[in-house]
Amino acid sequence: MADWNNVIGLEVHVQLKTKTKLFCSCEVEPGARPNSHVCPVCLGMPGALPTVNEQALEYAIRLGLALHCEIDPRPMWTRKNYFYPDLPKGYQITQTGGLPYYDHPVCKNGWLDIELEDGTTRRIGITRIHMEEDAGKLIHDMSPNESHFDANRCGTPLCEIVSEPDIRTAKEAVAYLTKLKQIVEYTGVGDADMEKGNLRCDANISIRPGEDAPFGTRAEIKNLNSFTHLEKAVEAERELQIVTLESGGTVEQCTKRYDVANNRTVVIRSKEDAHDYRYFPEPDLPRLTVTDELVERVRATLPELPEDRRRRFADQLGLTAYDAQVLCAEKPVADWFEAAAAASPNPKLVANWMMTEVLREARTGEGGATIPASRGLPNLKFSPEQLGELVGLIEKGTISGKIAKTVFSEMVATGNSPAKIVEEKGLVQVSDVGAITEAVRKVVEANPAQLEALKAGNAKLRGFFVGQVMKAMAGKGNPALINKALDSFLS
Ligand SMILES: [Zn+2]
Repeated sequence: MADWNNVIGLEVHVQLKTKTKLFCSCEVEPGARPNSHVCPVCLGMPGALPTVNEQALEYAIRLGLALHCEIDPRPMWTRKNYFYPDLPKGYQITQTGGLPYYDHPVCKNGWLDIELEDGTTRRIGITRIHMEEDAGKLIHDMSPNESHFDANRCGTPLCEIVSEPDIRTAKEAVAYLTKLKQIVEYTGVGDADMEKGNLRCDANISIRPGEDAPFGTRAEIKNLNSFTHLEKAVEAERELQIVTLESGGTVEQCTKRYDVANNRTVVIRSKEDAHDYRYFPEPDLPRLTVTDELVERVRATLPELPEDRRRRFADQLGLTAYDAQVLCAEKPVADWFEAAAAASPNPKLVANWMMTEVLREARTGEGGATIPASRGLPNLKFSPEQLGELVGLIEKGTISGKIAKTVFSEMVATGNSPAKIVEEKGLVQVSDVGAITEAVRKVVEANPAQLEALKAGNAKLRGFFVGQVMKAMAGKGNPALINKALDSFLS
């Protein structure tokens, strides 16, 4: 079998988080009553004229700057004509089309670095980011015999981010999409929730018999709505193309979907060409003018991006590279951690609690289902400041790390402050040398054989004694003082 080499490019649609639609003042409201946010413009009534949503344009520029793109000073709108029941206008206003004189997307020639599992970095080119309006939604599962149509989504603003065919493996595709999703969330231009469809991914894939061979014919797999589906669909399509070519067949250019149940890709239609859409410059909208001032104004709104934040967490807060990466993966998680760290003298210890206890709680949804941490954090009963306070109590020696787990469970259940829980439950660590020495004496006297063995050099028995004393003191003894008192019985 030849060593087949993948060539993969992704087209990612991001719904921009604007208050209103791209060309009219209809509100964008997820979950609204169907067909309640419509007007002559987004329904494409004759004579209705679109006007451009400035916020959407600024979001597109912000996304482009975060992805190191050039910003076109004169983006141009085009009309893509096609018939489909979810598109009452019969055309979509976009910024693509193919012919050079009117192909002016708002952003082009950017890049995104992805980190691979082996620690290396690969740069993936971004060909272009263009703005366009979304279509409506067909609903097929409301009745057995009819389809329903909701026009609320007609005209909501999208950015399509098109990558260069620089991606080589399914894992790289997932890493690219993960990073892109992070950037959309960090820049605040969209919610990027794949389940809700405000981040949608199409994958182009072809194979060739080596890195230097010409590109093969590609298949486009539409609407991959999770990272798992992306990875599996790319793998399945690769296998199919290998089998096809090695059995003497040819790969036809086509549009496909991923059949989850059977883990295979299925042809939806043979690939349409650009001329099928009869693109032409949009007659109802003039070319946009993007001044340097506007670009600089938008650049000033760029927040700290995931990479910079990771570096800062490692450099300033002393986190390991791995911890910083986990904590920065979702912006709400990073924000939560940062608020907790600010309320504590030991950010590294806060990170340890965050990575284990807090994320475990946040990821546990109703009925024990696993949910994204970013969604679970707002439901926690305790605040970041309270976690900082808990870590502060450990640092001060008020409670032991072991007791802290008990306090944490109470925080999870009640949302009470750690100090209050410690006081009410009498969990303060015992640091009274007299009481500790007395407890150690009792344990030592009850276990003379083990004491002799410890004296003779069986160091493992130290843990046994500390454990017994801790048990006798209901977990509240100060471990350092217990060890010290134990030493006095060994000499
Ligand atoms: Zn409208």
